[in-house]
Amino acid sequence: MTAEIKVWGIVQGVGFRPFISRLASFHGLKGWVRNEGGCVHLKVCGAEGAVERFIRDIREKKPGPAEIVDLQAKMFPALEEEFDSFRIMESSDLKEDNIFIPPDLGICDHCREELFDPSDPRYLHPLISCMACGPRYSIMDRIPYDRPNTAMEEFPMCPYCQDQYDRLDNRRHHAQTISCPACGPQVKFYTYQGGELSFPVPDNKAIDQAIRHLQQGKIIAVKGIGGYHFVCTPFDRETVLDLRALKGRETKPFAVMFEKMADVKAYCQVSPEEEKVLTSRERPIVLLERKKGGEISPPVFGTSQYLGAFLPYTPVQYLLLKRTGPLIMTSANISDRPIIKEEEEFRGMQDGRLSGILSHNRQIRVRVEDSVVKPFGEEVQFMRRARGYAPLPIQLGAAFSKPDLPQVLAVGGQLKNTFCLTKGSFAYLSQYLGDMEDQDVFQIYRESLRHLEKILKIQPERISCDLHPDYLTTKYAKGLGGEWITVQHHYAHIASVMAERQIFDPVIGLSFDGTGYGTDGKMWGGEYLICSPREFFRAGHVKYITLLGGDSSVKEAWKTACCYLSAAGLASAIDDARWPLIKAALSRNINTIQSSSMGRLFDGVSSLLGISHQADYEGQCAIELERAAFDFQRQGCPKEEKAYPFHLAEEEGQQIIDYFPCIREMMAEKAAGKDVGEISYRFHRTVIASAGTMCELLRDRYKLNKVALSGGVFQNALLFQGLVASLREWGFQVYYNTLVPPNDGGLSLGQAFVALNQ
Ligand code: ZN
Ligand code: FE
Repeated sequence: MTAEIKVWGIVQGVGFRPFISRLASFHGLKGWVRNEGGCVHLKVCGAEGAVERFIRDIREKKPGPAEIVDLQAKMFPALEEEFDSFRIMESSDLKEDNIFIPPDLGICDHCREELFDPSDPRYLHPLISCMACGPRYSIMDRIPYDRPNTAMEEFPMCPYCQDQYDRLDNRRHHAQTISCPACGPQVKFYTYQGGELSFPVPDNKAIDQAIRHLQQGKIIAVKGIGGYHFVCTPFDRETVLDLRALKGRETKPFAVMFEKMADVKAYCQVSPEEEKVLTSRERPIVLLERKKGGEISPPVFGTSQYLGAFLPYTPVQYLLLKRTGPLIMTSANISDRPIIKEEEEFRGMQDGRLSGILSHNRQIRVRVEDSVVKPFGEEVQFMRRARGYAPLPIQLGAAFSKPDLPQVLAVGGQLKNTFCLTKGSFAYLSQYLGDMEDQDVFQIYRESLRHLEKILKIQPERISCDLHPDYLTTKYAKGLGGEWITVQHHYAHIASVMAERQIFDPVIGLSFDGTGYGTDGKMWGGEYLICSPREFFRAGHVKYITLLGGDSSVKEAWKTACCYLSAAGLASAIDDARWPLIKAALSRNINTIQSSSMGRLFDGVSSLLGISHQADYEGQCAIELERAAFDFQRQGCPKEEKAYPFHLAEEEGQQIIDYFPCIREMMAEKAAGKDVGEISYRFHRTVIASAGTMCELLRDRYKLNKVALSGGVFQNALLFQGLVASLREWGFQVYYNTLVPPNDGGLSLGQAFVALNQ
């Protein structure tokens, strides 16, 4: 019997063909296998039972990093073709099937053992890899994923590596990134002085030098997978403050890399689910609850209750950490500029705080930063989706496998941006690319877009963008020519959940967000939207309030607080010397906006309670408000806390939630000396209670029971988890993002979904 089989998914660059070849020999089958465009195509012949067992084993025994999205087999009863053996054939680039680009994979256990085994030829080889691990997306030029199509093209294999590459029974059989000290890329260390790089020290001396600098409390840059990190000890306050100054980042927490799980557990609470994510091949940064005390210097995490922790994912990182202990590893960039990926970019930086650069000569084709996640029960919430995940596609389901479906480019929003390309039923979300306010970041956005379009062979016919006319991405989309559509920001957030979960019937969408441009030109962000895949309408929202416009006001929560107090009739309670200026602006409507933003409400309340008045990074005031509530909750199980009052009214068919009564009572309690942690906790309960009340009202009115939650405010775990639990208790089916971030990093997926449904 002969079977012709095609397998789609992550089947290239993960040792799939050698696996098939071994499996075929095991079952006594003959034939061939090859990469074809984005799938693996094979033909086998042999006894009928053996062919069937072979097909079953493909699914059951696939190599660790492989992901099978689809497998189709055609059977022919007779031995149609005669083969004398089983062969792995040269790749073919003829077919344009759905393409799956493997994401970058963290170093595997086998390679790590070899790295520290003095008897292994790759002992201490800083770029060791195999078919199960190593860089992928970040070094790819084109598909199929073969060595000449990657940055490894410059490094022909030596006879030793070639022999392993050729051997069927070897872990490095047909592995494209392998090398050894004789043939592979080399590390080197430069001392950095006055913006100049010294003559480099090579090989293991380079590692030794880097370690010496780190042990002396200096900051160095280390080349990773998708860019450089700034690296230093987390235990020395002066060093950490220097790093803050170098990065131009005053308070945003830094992530810390630990050599092993036991070290993570010494500093953080780790649940079994969190451990699973930490040790996964994606190796993201995981936000963990910090243990109190410990030697990690407070400026590392600032006011955050979390510590971003991760485990090493490159051999170089292991070589360093084994001898230095935990290290801060933060993207090497200045302020919000792009992450550095070339040695050249350090020249002329002229910052005396950087003392050295540990580099290597394997090139990075695309910048990919570390992913950041926060586990939620068995699931994961993404803060940032990048290395290890991008550009794995999100499956949109069979409804999109129609042949005449246009290919879509969704350009995303403004902050924390990603773009999304679709082909058939797959949505390829880019890695996190940063804030589209910096021209260099935007330039890299466009380069990454062209790169991914080229690899995926996608030529977008329909372009989807935000409604905001001033977003750089919106202007860019409209300038591309061709057919474009705009998708309202908060609708796109909800649509990202519908896309992930393949929901095609209408849902009640709760889009709790910082800001986004509304269909009435006002600033939205506390939205109750009835959404279908094609369109939406606004069923309710947080009551508009007049706020000061301008970018700086978003960071200055105290201004928002003044506006709230004034609107709630509590102007007399404002004791800020700057109030008269704000008052004048408000009364004359100078640079004011109408806002229904939930994010701004959280910021304002944070300032009202005296917790945080000014944000150095997006969402900081709200994060500190949440922390105060968490601290209160942790101090003991709070008795069933009642919500503060809020007011619901109907205006022109829309439900308007008014939190002014809540603010008045909070202020009264604060004046009476009540603990602000408790007030903050009750405020969170109030938002949950009011959202629940709204959902019940909308369920009755529109006969809908599905609720989708998205928007940056849901990164607040107390609000998010509390609301999910309450809504489930009240009998709702609740959906939220688990594959893309609820923040603006997930917008492009929603935009693409809506565009496909037009
Ligand atoms: Zn490996
Ligand atoms: Fe948003």
